Amino acid sequence: GESVVVVGAGQAGCQVAVSLREQGHRGSITLVGDEQAAPYQRPPLTKAYLAGETDLAGLVLRQDSYYADHGIQVVTGERVIGVDRSARVVVLGCARTIGYDHLVFATGARPRPLPVPGAEHVLNLRTVADADVIRQKLEGRTGLDVVVIGGGFIGLEFAAVVRKLRHEVTVVETQPRVMQRAVSEATARHLTNRHRREGVQVLTGTGVAAVREGFVELTDGTVLVADLVVAGIGVIPNAEIAQRSGLACDDGIVVDAHLRTVDPRVHAIGDCARFARPLSGGLVRLESVQNAVDQAGCVAAAILGSAEPYTALPWFWSDQYDVKLQIAGLTDGHDRTVTVGDPAQGKFSVFCFRGDRLLGVEAYNRPVDFLMARRLMDSGATLTPEIVGRPGFDLRLSLQ
Ligand code: FAD
Repeated sequence: GESVVVVGAGQAGCQVAVSLREQGHRGSITLVGDEQAAPYQRPPLTKAYLAGETDLAGLVLRQDSYYADHGIQVVTGERVIGVDRSARVVVLGCARTIGYDHLVFATGARPRPLPVPGAEHVLNLRTVADADVIRQKLEGRTGLDVVVIGGGFIGLEFAAVVRKLRHEVTVVETQPRVMQRAVSEATARHLTNRHRREGVQVLTGTGVAAVREGFVELTDGTVLVADLVVAGIGVIPNAEIAQRSGLACDDGIVVDAHLRTVDPRVHAIGDCARFARPLSGGLVRLESVQNAVDQAGCVAAAILGSAEPYTALPWFWSDQYDVKLQIAGLTDGHDRTVTVGDPAQGKFSVFCFRGDRLLGVEAYNRPVDFLMARRLMDSGATLTPEIVGRPGFDLRLSLQ
């Protein structure tokens, strides 16, 4: 059979290997990853792992025996430093080369550095090694002053856990509200209020001017005491190796609707891939487990000769305190929302539309709505704001 080399051993890389075997691939599969750990899931890093409720063994995607049993070669702690596409080899940092018939970039992304003086005092949270550093700083202590820069998913999840560990937490967000692009105003407002009720200080419309040992200076002149500063201000896709091999890159490795580069032997998936999504009218790059897993399955099928365009419905979740936020679809770019349920009780769903077209549903402690919305959108059925706005509207009934 043909040989497959996967660059990056994270969520997407692991899944493409698993999917290849599940779909009957007989050739060799080699996963090369630069982290020490075998492939693991990142979502618990800002949730159970940070809270000390699970350990690395609880994060790994497969046991070591799985890879051995399925003939999947996992090389950890090794970086791919170059790809020669004409010779069809990847070059590792240790100078070893590995030949391939098919190459999959699953290199993920890295935290965007904070562009201010004193950034060296700021910690990030992307890897289990990052989480261990932070856990060590918090371990056995309470009442530390923790400043979180960035009110996105990672910043807010981190804030929730650290608050639960009884530290003083301030979130600083430059935009007028948290999660500006990721969720609707209604959902963001509820989450912000929840954080404030828990005692987290949420500052919006304020940037960071500088970070010093023990302090954070904001653009409005405020100085925050900080024993620990953690930033979550977005990521930079790891596309340099692909770019140097001559592949088009632009905020990610550019691939077509089949997740293929211009080189038919090379695909890119997961956080590093910027793919053609006709529904969005252009290229998008998504950062989610769903996207990594579904793209991996799609590329495994393509390698085995049944290429289909990638059309899976995006979905996402976030856990903060006891709030379970689940999003079906991509709500970015909506211009109308209709809220159903009971916002006062913290159980509601926000239906996001552009014009009459349903873009997605944000389910806030309404898991049934999330499931139904996924099913509805998967089926291609449509809902208009008028239908959702009718008294007594029930998503379950609209599916029948
Ligand atoms: P990654 O999992 O980042 O894997 C890429 C791997 O490639 C990394 O190990 C990297 O070190 C390695 N690599 C890069 N370059 C090279 C090279 N040249 N040679 C060798 N190895 C290389 N998503 C959700 O859907 N829900 C959540 O609740 C959620 N929570 C999250 C919380 C945190 C703290 C983080 C960081 C992410 C979270 N995500 C969540 C996002 C999700 O984890 C990512 O979208 C997913 O991990 C992407 O998978 P990936 O394989 O593309 O990238």
